[in-house]
Amino acid sequence: MDLSESVEALKGVGPKTAEILKKAGIKTLRDFFYNLPRDYESFQAAGTIAEMRPGKVVVRGKIDSLSTRQARRRRLSITEGVVRDNTGAVKVVWFNQSYRARQFSPEKEYYFSGTYELKNGRWQLTSPSAALVADIDPSSALSPIYVAHGALKSHDFRKLANGARDKFASIPDLLPTVAAGTRREALFRAHFPETTKEITEAREYLAYEELFELILAAKLNRRENEKLKAETIPFSAEKIREFVGQLPFNLTNAQRRATWEIFQNMEQGTPMNRLLQGDVGSGKTMVAAMSAYAAVLAGKQVALIAPTAILATQHYEGLGPLLGKFGVKTALLTGATKHKSELKKQIAAGEVDLVVGTHALLTDDTEFADLALVIIDEQHRFGVEQRQKLVLKSPAKFAPHLLSMTATPIPRSLQLTVFGDLDVSVLNELPKGRQPIETRILTEVETKERLYPQILETVHAGQQVYWICKAIEDSNVSEATSVKTRAKKLQSLFPKLKIEFLHGKMKPLEKDEIMERFSRGEINVLVSTTVVEVGVDVPNATLMVIENAESYGLAQLHQLRGRVGRGTVKSFCYLLTSGDAEPSRRLRELEKSSDGFHLAEVDLKLRGPGEIYGSLQHGALDLRIASLSDTKLIARAQADVVKFLQNDENMLKYKELMAGTKKYQQLTTLN
Ligand code: ADP
Ligand code: MG
Repeated sequence: MDLSESVEALKGVGPKTAEILKKAGIKTLRDFFYNLPRDYESFQAAGTIAEMRPGKVVVRGKIDSLSTRQARRRRLSITEGVVRDNTGAVKVVWFNQSYRARQFSPEKEYYFSGTYELKNGRWQLTSPSAALVADIDPSSALSPIYVAHGALKSHDFRKLANGARDKFASIPDLLPTVAAGTRREALFRAHFPETTKEITEAREYLAYEELFELILAAKLNRRENEKLKAETIPFSAEKIREFVGQLPFNLTNAQRRATWEIFQNMEQGTPMNRLLQGDVGSGKTMVAAMSAYAAVLAGKQVALIAPTAILATQHYEGLGPLLGKFGVKTALLTGATKHKSELKKQIAAGEVDLVVGTHALLTDDTEFADLALVIIDEQHRFGVEQRQKLVLKSPAKFAPHLLSMTATPIPRSLQLTVFGDLDVSVLNELPKGRQPIETRILTEVETKERLYPQILETVHAGQQVYWICKAIEDSNVSEATSVKTRAKKLQSLFPKLKIEFLHGKMKPLEKDEIMERFSRGEINVLVSTTVVEVGVDVPNATLMVIENAESYGLAQLHQLRGRVGRGTVKSFCYLLTSGDAEPSRRLRELEKSSDGFHLAEVDLKLRGPGEIYGSLQHGALDLRIASLSDTKLIARAQADVVKFLQNDENMLKYKELMAGTKKYQQLTTLN
């Protein structure tokens, strides 16, 4: 069977159905077989209406008296009916499923599976799923539930699958690493399981298949990268030692190790593709500075791109003078840069060694004379296309060395799969003298009794405060206090303090000005949205307040918290929550742990990878089933991929696999 054939080849799929399926992304036979049930239901356990007990129930009966009405609350339609068997009758209710009124024939028998409960003084069966008894295979105890698409409801998908039952037998194998027939067996069992064990096994195989493709994609990307040429950047120990010698601090061992790994890469004629992971405050910028210096010493150009103008400006102001002492010419290129075309001419002429900038760097008319190293700060903020644009700015024939930096730690499981084509350096050590940040969830009372006095104390001690708000403006959709309102409220509480606000919609120049004044210590309390989240470095800030803390992910909270605790003075982070809900597990974890890696693992488990790496991996992590925290399965797939790649013929032989892998390759490639 050719799986890329159109779904129209299936029984019961005419042009109309095909159109709906197409809209749902189900175009080929492959798509159809892999459109797995979202859940399963056991109709075998059906009881009688007389015996129903409150809770989840399944009954078997005929339905009549169907009608739909609009509820007073707009946009809610209520469909009601009565289900009867020979022991009694029960009212059924569906919300916003008006098609239910037309779904049933009064003379046919159906299974209904839903919640039996008391509502407004009457017992009813709420939102049951329904299946025609004649449609349910009596040999199968479990009936699949499919996601509905347009006019096609779960039972339509069930019917289509049933119609295609004999086709499963001719599904070809995909992987050489499992027994022949494993795939068709798994797909068949996923659609027609007899036991829950069969479901588990089927899903495990299909998850393995996905992981296999993902890991293979990463390894192929790495191979392709190794075929590219990069300019060699020799390591001049003496010059680097001289540079390190004039720093006001000693490098951490982790910084030394990471720098060494980078130098080793850049000496090679193949492009480096390295991710520098380091918790907030671990000193990634210094590693970037040394790498940039090495490239400039070799007569090449370097681009350092950051996700916000504030951060780019800060890097420019930090690195410019530091490297300037050693003859490195640095320029800043952001949207707000004046005389852009003049600057771009200088860059193209090779008169600037290090260009620090934002997205403004990516425009086609920004050309380099000899770009050999690209450094991406907070890489998870950039999309694949954006990174690719930057990479293409190196001279023809050459790919630049690429150093991506992130403070959002990537759990090991993701490192092996999605990020498998990267080399990784880890800064697992904070500079000496840092004290852990004391983190606490505050109640409303504590906010008044503890936080407000502490704000005053902090300011009187000459230190500064960040106060993070969710919204820029007040709105009636959200109850979150906006930066503007919060700044006003704090100002009236603390009339003597210098309080300003900052948010992403302000003009770049305005933002820079506020941030600069905050860096210089001219602002006591900065009320801000998360624009300060990435990177900004004001060591004198020692108190961070995060309002509506429950609305952020763990990684983001950790990153925000990292804006304090950057000097030697003890810092605090207070989490304020709205409403009186129990603080979530996430916030509790943040209170307990200051280890970004641990927090990332927890986040991955609690929210899944899509949420965390969504912006970066758009779509790539939309895995049907594989769990990226299933380390055992990952390890198995990993070992099998290695074996697969040992035989080059495999790549010619397993065409379907290679085609599927291509998709992941494009989505995850960094070069
Ligand atoms: P991040 O890894 O979060 O980007 P930064 O590079 O901004 O961290 O560094 C945080 C702060 O630590 C900066 O003020 C930087 O100058 C300082 N720093 C970097 N390396 C060291 C070191 N080895 N010892 C002391 N301070 C350091
Ligand atoms: Mg940084």
